[in-house]
Amino acid sequence: MFEASKARERFTLNLTVEQLLALASLFWALSANRLFLQAALKDRVASEPATWGFAVALLVMLGALHFLLMALVSNRWTVKPLLAVLVVGTAFATHFMQSFSVYLDPTMLRNVLRTDVAEARELFAWRLIPHLLLFAVLPLLVLWRVRIVRRPWLRAAAVRVGLLLLAAAVLVGALLSVFQAFSSLMRNNKDMRYLITPANYVWSLAAVATAQAKGAAKPRVAIGEDAQPGPRMAARSKPLLVVMVVGETARAANWQLNGYAKATTPELARLGTPPVINFKDVTSCGTNTETSLPCMFAPIGRRDYEESRIRGSQSLLHVLNRAGVGVLWRDNQSGCKGVCEGLPQEEVLQLNPPGLCADGRCLDEALLMGLDERLKAAAAKPGTQLLVLHQLGNHGPSYFRRFPPAFKRFTPQCEHDDLRKCSTEEIVNAYDNALLYTDHVLARLIQQLQAAQGQVDSVVLYVSDHGESLGENNLFLHGLPYAIAPDLQKRVPMVMWFSAGAAASTGVDTACLQRRAAQSAAHDHLFHTLLGLTDVKTALYEKDWDLTKDCRP
Ligand SMILES: [Zn+2]
Repeated sequence: MFEASKARERFTLNLTVEQLLALASLFWALSANRLFLQAALKDRVASEPATWGFAVALLVMLGALHFLLMALVSNRWTVKPLLAVLVVGTAFATHFMQSFSVYLDPTMLRNVLRTDVAEARELFAWRLIPHLLLFAVLPLLVLWRVRIVRRPWLRAAAVRVGLLLLAAAVLVGALLSVFQAFSSLMRNNKDMRYLITPANYVWSLAAVATAQAKGAAKPRVAIGEDAQPGPRMAARSKPLLVVMVVGETARAANWQLNGYAKATTPELARLGTPPVINFKDVTSCGTNTETSLPCMFAPIGRRDYEESRIRGSQSLLHVLNRAGVGVLWRDNQSGCKGVCEGLPQEEVLQLNPPGLCADGRCLDEALLMGLDERLKAAAAKPGTQLLVLHQLGNHGPSYFRRFPPAFKRFTPQCEHDDLRKCSTEEIVNAYDNALLYTDHVLARLIQQLQAAQGQVDSVVLYVSDHGESLGENNLFLHGLPYAIAPDLQKRVPMVMWFSAGAAASTGVDTACLQRRAAQSAAHDHLFHTLLGLTDVKTALYEKDWDLTKDCRP
C-alpha cells in the first residue's frame, strides 16, 4: 500500500497552471506548426543568420500567443480538461493539415464538420495511428501524471496577471524584432494565419458556430418574389425538362473535351447529333462544395461574393418554383447545403437502387434510377421541370471507389485511401477512371432523354463544383483559400446538351451557343442562364450573365 503510493508519487509532476500552459505552448510551437514555419520561411536561405533569427522570433510568438490565450481561460479545475481536448484536437488537425496541405479556415472547418461517416472512413489512414500515439496519447499520459500545485488565491491571481503581462510583452517584443518582415509576409499571405495551430481550428470553430447561431435564428430571405412565367414558358405546349447535373471535384484540366490527352470523356465525344456543347474555360465560385454549391444557385456569385448573404437567402430553385417550375433535388452526396430547403428532395441512398450502393455510398448511376418513369409522368402534363442531380463524382481521396470495375481503364491506379502511398501516375489514373464514369453517367442520361424526346423536350447542363489538386506542387484534394488556390482547383468542366425540340422551345440557337462556349464562363452565369432557358421573368435577372443572351431571339 505504502510502496504503491510512493511509486505513484515518483511519477507525479508537480506543476503550477502556468508552468503546465507554458509546456503545452512550447510543445505545440515545436510540434504542430511545421506548415506555418515552412510557409513563413519559404523564400529565405537556411545558411543566413537572419533566417534563424526570424525562425526563433516566430517560435517565440507562437508560444507566447498560445500561452496568452489559454491563460485567459484556465484555472486549477479547467486547465487539464482544456489541454486534453486541445491535445487530441491538435493531433487530428496536424495529421489532416500535413496530409493534404490544407488551411484550417472557417470554410474548411465547415467542411470537416459536415463530413459524414463514409467520408471520414476514407480520410482515415493507418498512418494516423503512430501520429496519434506520438502527439495525442503520449502527451495525454504526461498530462495525466501532472498534479496542479495550489497557491493561495491572492498570490495565484497576482502571479497570473504578472505572467499574462510578461507573455504579452514577449509576444510584442518578438513581433517588433522582426516587424517589417513579418508584417509584409502576413499582408501578402493573409491566409497563412490559418496554419497557426491550435489557434487556427479553435478560431475557425468559433467563427462557424457564431455564423450558425446567427443563421439559425433567421429564416432565409425570400428572393425573386416577382418571379413569373414569361411568354415562351406560358405558351409551351410540350413539357420541358431541364436536368442540371452538379458534378463533384471534376477538374477542367483532365477533361478530354478540353483537349486532355487521355480519353476521359469518350462517350460524350461520340454523341452525334445534336452534339454536346463543351464550355472550355469555366471558373468555379469556390474551391470546396460548401462554398460553391450555394453560390452556383445564387444571383450573386464570385464577382460579388458574400457568404452570409448567399447562405441567408433562398436560391434559384425557390425563384423557379415560384414561377411554376417543378423542382426536384436528387442527391448522391452530402445534401443540398440549404439550396433546396423546403423543396422536394430525394437521397439516392434511401431509394436503395439494387446493386449500386454499399457501405453508405452509391455509384452515380443511382441518380438515374426511375428516370424513364419520371419522363413518362412528365410527358403526361405540360409544364417546365428542373431536376437537379448532385453527384458523388470524383470525390477524393478514394477516387477508385467512385466507379464500377468496368471503368478501371487507366492503370495502374491508386487503390489506397491514403494518397501518399501511391505514385502521381497511379493517383491520376484513378482520378481519370472516375471521370470516365461521370462521362458514362452523363451519356446515359442524354441517351435516355433522347429516347423520350418525342414526348418531352430536354436540356442537360453539367458543371462541376470545383477542381482538384493531384499532387501538383505537393498539393492534394481541394479547399485552399480562393485567393491562393491553384487554377486546377478553380477550373471546372461544363457541358450543355439540347434535344432538338428543346432548342426550338427555349429559342436557343445551339450553333451560336457552341461559339459562345469557346469563351470564358463562370459559376456566376448559372443563375441567369437557367432563368433565361426556362423563361422565368424576375427583376433579379441580369442579361449580361446569361450565356444564351446572344443566342436567343
Ligand atoms: Zn465539392
